[in-house]
Amino acid sequence: MTQNPVETFLTPTEEQAVLTAIRKAESHTSGEIRVHIENTSNTPIDTRVLDVFSILKMHNTELHNAVLIYVAIQDKTFAIYGDKGINAVVSDTFWDETKNTIQAHFKQGHFKQGLVDGILSAGQQLKTYFPYKATDTDELPNTISKG
Ligand code: CA
Ligand code: CA
Repeated sequence: MTQNPVETFLTPTEEQAVLTAIRKAESHTSGEIRVHIENTSNTPIDTRVLDVFSILKMHNTELHNAVLIYVAIQDKTFAIYGDKGINAVVSDTFWDETKNTIQAHFKQGHFKQGLVDGILSAGQQLKTYFPYKATDTDELPNTISKG
């Protein structure tokens, strides 16, 4: 029997570290961050990330400021997609720093660290445009989605 790479991509401890990073990032911003991990995208990643964003109902935030970090393990690739509320106010290079952070860790096989630092970076980036408010609610679950 072959192991499902999606299940072994992160150890339970590493998964907890990722969830902690999401909670921490979301304590600075009203933006919502989610992670989706699957083995292969089957379709071009730019379309797939949109599909997953939609499947996870990530459009359903008040300020349209959710961000998806998408990982395709076998394809050795990832993508970041932010909702229209973010794209309306930021430059095209907005995610570059976050992408570079993730890529640098992933290249070395440090997947947990790539996700943790990427999530924290996304949170810091979002904070400028979407600061945390006392009335903030957790609009999207702080869990890792697996496809
Ligand atoms: Ca929130
Ligand atoms: Ca959340």
